[in-house]
Amino acid sequence: MKYLVTGAAGFIGFFTTKRLCEMGHEVVGIDNLNDYYDVSLKHGRLNELAPLKNFRFVELDLADREGIAALFQKEKFNRVIHLAAQAGVRYSIDNPMAYIDSNLVGHATILEGCRNNDVEHLVYASSSSVYGMNTKMPFSTTDAVDHPVSLYAATKKSNELMSHTYSHLYGIPTTGLRFFTVYGPWGRPDMAYFKFTQMVNRGEPIPVFNEGKLKRDFTYIDDIVEGIVRIQDVIPTKSDHFDSTDPSRSSAPYRVYNIGNNQPVELMTFIQALESAIGKQAEKQYLPMQPGDVYATYADVSDLMETVGFKPSTSIEEGLQKFAQWYGNWGK
Ligand code: NAD
Repeated sequence: MKYLVTGAAGFIGFFTTKRLCEMGHEVVGIDNLNDYYDVSLKHGRLNELAPLKNFRFVELDLADREGIAALFQKEKFNRVIHLAAQAGVRYSIDNPMAYIDSNLVGHATILEGCRNNDVEHLVYASSSSVYGMNTKMPFSTTDAVDHPVSLYAATKKSNELMSHTYSHLYGIPTTGLRFFTVYGPWGRPDMAYFKFTQMVNRGEPIPVFNEGKLKRDFTYIDDIVEGIVRIQDVIPTKSDHFDSTDPSRSSAPYRVYNIGNNQPVELMTFIQALESAIGKQAEKQYLPMQPGDVYATYADVSDLMETVGFKPSTSIEEGLQKFAQWYGNWGK
């Protein structure tokens, strides 16, 4: 298979690319290498991928319509895994336009690339943030999710809606994966576990929002990649399902799955596990709830389990140990 992986220099894109290459697939990775966080991490990930013979990297912005169209035309991808996006809930509060360009225009250029080049399956990153302040636990993909509380979440929900229309109108099978707070080695420095580790090492107090009374379904990176890869095996492709001359087969599969640990953890418990993994105590600064934040996330993964026979299972203790081990060596 020939894959396009967008956001290949990013956290999840890097591990996904590595895994696909190890499985023997050919991967072209794109990324605009923006400076939303420390670019040396993105270069570090690309350096790790460089020895892989079946990987090529192209620096490209999703919003570059001509560039993306030309890439699709030249490369003739079988499948696309679209992970590039402007991530981060808090950043979206002050920088809304970055989300419009990368997440809305960017998603549209990828959908168009798939439409015009007969791509057989598009998998793209959605997010647990689409559930907003949903109070029904666990979060199920059958819940109505129409009240996003950040622009980031609104763009992710929009991606699902846009994908639905492309599946319906043009017969492109699309699968949206709602990831739940992903962490691990090579992770994102804008996320709490990474920031906390840096602050503890500098002897600075860590900010604990809403007195630590927040729950997150922290999900280890390997479990996310396993879900992405397994989905590749089971989703019917365009050739199996779409026939524009046959009304009963004129709508391609459109699916959305949660990928989360199915085990929400209190922020204070997570901090204790992190302290134990890095072997240092954190000084805490208690702060009010932040705008755009939600109280809890909790993934119902029964449909994922039913479809691919897998659900995430890495404990935060095990996952944070692996992160701490990587962090200790990083940059040395
Ligand atoms: P990341 O920021 O590490 O990776 C995204 C990559 O996309 C970055 O390398 C960035 O340079 C690139 N990018 C951003 N805008 C671009 C553009 N306009 N053109 C080309 N490249 C661009 O983030 P991640 O954690 O790896 O997230 C991957 C995907 O998963 C994103 O869509 C994100 O919204 C989603 N997601 C992540 C989490 C999480 O906890 N990490 C949770 C839910 C959803």
